Amino acid sequence: MLTNDELAKWDRENFMHPSTHLGQFARGEAAQRIVTGGEGVHITDRDGNRLLDGFAGLYCVNVGYGRTEIAEAIAAQAHELAYYHAYAGHGSETSITLAKMVMDRAPDHMARVYFGLGGSDANETNIKLIWYYNNIRGLPQKKKIISRWRGYHGSGLMTGSLTGLELFHKKFDLPLAQVIHTEAPYYFRRKDAGMSEADFSAHCAEELEKLIAAEGADTIAAFIGEPVLGTGGIVPPPAGYWEAIQKVLDRHDILLVADEVVTGFGRLGTMFGSDHYGLKPDLITIAKGLTSAYAPLSGSIVGQRMWDVLMQGTDEFGVLGHGWTYSAHPIGAAAGVANLELIDKLGLVENAGKVGGYLNTRMQAALGAHPNVGDVRGEGMLCAVELVQDREARTFFDPSQAIGGKIVAAMLKRGVIARAMPQGDIIGLAPPLCLTEAEADTIVGVTTEAVKEVLG
Ligand code: PLP
Repeated sequence: MLTNDELAKWDRENFMHPSTHLGQFARGEAAQRIVTGGEGVHITDRDGNRLLDGFAGLYCVNVGYGRTEIAEAIAAQAHELAYYHAYAGHGSETSITLAKMVMDRAPDHMARVYFGLGGSDANETNIKLIWYYNNIRGLPQKKKIISRWRGYHGSGLMTGSLTGLELFHKKFDLPLAQVIHTEAPYYFRRKDAGMSEADFSAHCAEELEKLIAAEGADTIAAFIGEPVLGTGGIVPPPAGYWEAIQKVLDRHDILLVADEVVTGFGRLGTMFGSDHYGLKPDLITIAKGLTSAYAPLSGSIVGQRMWDVLMQGTDEFGVLGHGWTYSAHPIGAAAGVANLELIDKLGLVENAGKVGGYLNTRMQAALGAHPNVGDVRGEGMLCAVELVQDREARTFFDPSQAIGGKIVAAMLKRGVIARAMPQGDIIGLAPPLCLTEAEADTIVGVTTEAVKEVLG
């Protein structure tokens, strides 16, 4: 049996962790946690801590931890057929079943699903399909992609470019030239405090229109956005936003990619965020909630108008030159089938709407009037508390004070995991969709105590 100390040492000496301060971690200055188990909304670690995971891992363990139904489905698949590829028309019973289950749940105008491994590679697939689509249509110059500041779409070369957060660009020579960014639909941080939500949505649509005019509509292929901004601050769109944006896109023959890596499969209290906000996307990105992270799997759901052109493309030019060894991996697919069955059986989409609504209402009641809380916002099982220096003036703390990080640390001491969102002092919550009202009360109580400990 390894002792904690040996593992801790091996960890610091061998393991390059993602999204981590490398120097501090290697020197032993940054925290480490060795996670050993999970049950429902809780995880446990080797030091004997039991923590309520208010962020469901990275907003992905939607059904909660320790679901034996999914573990058994994975084991059965591994025994029967751990792997076969999906190239040239090959499939497994689970990958074909999962494709059918995804398409049964997707909006009616969607036509097919392509499976990958994670959200980043799914968005990479999307951009390739978009470029292929416009080449087949004889529009080789129509290639630029518009994303939003504060959007999050992954951390690869193209997807890190689509992401509109400074941390993911700086010193990486990103964004790439084919990607341009437009204003975030962030009502709380609008410049003109007098604007109504509807006015602000109209303003965002005007900004988009101006950007398209400046670049030339004939150079722009697609617009990508999360139905609710996630990593950029958990920001639901202002009233009328998606309607106004879609009108602009339609006018200029620009495709819409709905990145539903966080919102897909129930987090907003609806199967997809596209249903929730009346979006009619050409592509939908799915990952996290597809398997509740029990195994890696993602997907690009392709809408009918693109699908028709993709088929025409292969008729003219032969096999689609896109695929990975692990596309539609049978073990990921087995996890996906068991996960979607469990979501239905436990009524987790409805629970996300109901208990998520309760969480947001209780959080608003507990912290909405605190002098350093500028905004309590959320949708479904997503909730954020944004801290400000001055409520009326909507001025923010200097980032060097790391107020968000301090509050999250104070929450952790009390047994609740939240996430300090990477840009701004924003406490993010995205618990598993099986959260109960009693667990929501615990989250609200701990958040309130932590805010008071740090800010008084
Ligand atoms: N898109 C969105 C909306 C996400 O939130 C994420 C990850 O958080 C991604 C894409 C990237 O997914 P992955 O980390 O699986 O590559």
